[in-house]
Amino acid sequence: MGEQRLNVESRITLLGAGPGDPDLLTLKGVKALQTADVVLYDALTNETLLEHAPEAAIKVYVGKRSGEHSYPQDTINKLMIDYALNYGHVVRLKGGDPFVFGRGYEELDYAASYSIPVSVIPGISSSIGVPGLQQIPVTHRGMSESFWVITGTTTSGEVSADIYQAAQSNATVVVLMGLKKLPKIVEIFKAAGKHHLPTAVVQNGSAEDERLVVGVVETIESLAQQENIKAPALLIFGEVVSLHPSFKNLIKQYASIA
Ligand code: SAH
Repeated sequence: MGEQRLNVESRITLLGAGPGDPDLLTLKGVKALQTADVVLYDALTNETLLEHAPEAAIKVYVGKRSGEHSYPQDTINKLMIDYALNYGHVVRLKGGDPFVFGRGYEELDYAASYSIPVSVIPGISSSIGVPGLQQIPVTHRGMSESFWVITGTTTSGEVSADIYQAAQSNATVVVLMGLKKLPKIVEIFKAAGKHHLPTAVVQNGSAEDERLVVGVVETIESLAQQENIKAPALLIFGEVVSLHPSFKNLIKQYASIA
């Protein structure tokens, strides 16, 4: 990593790209991209967003495509600093919101250690935006007074201990990075007596190929399997899922069988 070049005004913008639909980027995000010298972008960001950046800007993919190894965080941090010192304005484009399981603060902290100014532009997090696009409100008067956003996979690879507590509560529970852990998570909700709690899984929320399955805790695993749901997907547990039109159809179906 070299010395700062003369006449380069180094700065970094941590930019939340939203859940996937390129129109869900904020106006402030568009303006930041328009002044980018370098864009470092992740797997969960829509590449059409790069069109907002000048043609001459350097665009570097630092994410993970399914199956491939991801860039170590350390490498991303160093690249970000190197580009900022040599080229000026680095826009670090991250899926959803930079601070919701986005490791955004690690990047902010690293840049601060080089005294490079960082600004943050929040993005629509998939955790709220993806349920919302399905018309599933994370809170609803008289139904859900709070919501949890939990990772299904912690640093140690385990299901987060918070899920055990969340499953005991009346809160809406949104689980990111949890698809592979669905059997374990279902087990936790069942152990909390929530066999019939409305549950949804949404794959690629906000994208053209978005897919959704709706059921209850005890059916969701086989439904997701039947529909061959793949990552990126999020799980929604809570009474609010019953507000989704396809849940209402499910109830009608059950009623007609009974
Ligand atoms: N910072 C991001 C989350 C990063 S963690 C945000 O605020 O949205 C990555 C996880 O988010 C994925 O494994 C998946 O569980 C979830 N996710 C991100 N985008 C998604 C989308 N469009 N549809 C469904 N889940 C999504």
